[in-house]
Formats: sequence, structure tokens, C-alpha cells
Amino acid sequence: MIRRRWSLFAAVVVCAPLVAWSVLGGGPRPDAPSEQQNKAPSAKEKRQVSEPDTRSDRASPQAAEEVDWKKISDAEWRKRLTPEQYRVTRRKGTERPFTGKYWNTKTEGTYRCVACGLELFSSEAKFDAHCGWPSFFEPIEKGTVETAPDFSHFMRRTEVLCPRCGAHLGHVFPDGPKPTGLRYCINSASLKLEEAKPEKKPPGGSSHP
Ligand code: FE
Repeated sequence: MIRRRWSLFAAVVVCAPLVAWSVLGGGPRPDAPSEQQNKAPSAKEKRQVSEPDTRSDRASPQAAEEVDWKKISDAEWRKRLTPEQYRVTRRKGTERPFTGKYWNTKTEGTYRCVACGLELFSSEAKFDAHCGWPSFFEPIEKGTVETAPDFSHFMRRTEVLCPRCGAHLGHVFPDGPKPTGLRYCINSASLKLEEAKPEKKPPGGSSHP
């Protein structure tokens, strides 16, 4: 009899707080994870926590806009780029003339930064400078590229950089064709050509405007 009463008393002591908690619809149990802990991190928080996985050929323009490209570590750039792309864009290297992918390319399209995907040059401004590097007489829009004085190798030149990620692109010289008289001499290793899509004809339409 005494043992039965003792069991009843123990059951009441153990269960009463739980019953009260559920009846009152109370807050989280002390041993439950807090709301903060439960909340899934937003896409923006994820990007801040880890290095963004937005390579130039994968990121949507909107996602690429949100990334702070200049905060990407050197180690991360090494992972993302080929050794030649890294040497040129992050170490201000120069590829050998007539060896790059685009020095003689006539394909129409947009040349983007190989590191961050920013649109830099249009094929419409590309010309054959006979120098062995892809050359353009102007960037895709005014202010699309940054320039900086460069006194390396005992020369006085003007360096061209990607304004978004700081990638070294090449140099600009005052010996280009009209209308600008400039020659943006750019390393192929700094560029990625996005080929122009063929224009779609309207369905059933005539070939005349
Ligand atoms: Fe860039």
C-alpha cells in the first residue's frame, strides 16, 4: 500500500510541470533549441559565413551583385582559377603573345571578367592590333574598367583592372584606332567570352520587317 502511494506521488511530481507547460501553451522547453538556433540561415547569411560559390560562369547577375568580390581570399582565388588565370589576374602576370584563347577570335559576344563575371568588353570593339593579345578600342560602357599607373619593369604604363573584383586585365595604350584612339591590350586569361545568341525569328513571320 505504501509502495503504491509512493509511486503515485512520484508520478505526480514528474508529470505536473509538463502538464502545466502544455496547458499554459508555454514557451519553449528549457532543453529545447532556441528559436534562433532553429532558424535556417538566409541566403545572404550563408554567403557571409562561407566564401561565395558564385563563379563567373554559374552566378546569376543578381547573385553576383550581392557578393563582396574584393573580400575573397587569395587561397580561394587559387582554388577557383586555373594556375594561368590566377597568375595573370591576381599576380599581374602577362600571357605570352599569340598563345591566349582570344587573341585571334572573331566570334561575336561579350567578354566578361574570368574571375567575377562582370561584362567588360564587346566583340564590336575588338580589332586586330597584330600584337598577339585581344585588343579593344573601348570598354563595353564608360567606366566599366578601372585604370591605375603601373611603373613595373622600368616602364610607364596604365594598368587595366576589373572594378568589381580587382583582377588585373592588361594595359591600355594611346595607339588605338578611331573613335577613341585607345588600345586596351587584354590578356585572354583574364576574359571569358559569352557568345552572342542567334536572333530568334518570329514564328510564322515573314523575313521582311
Ligand atoms: Fe572581375
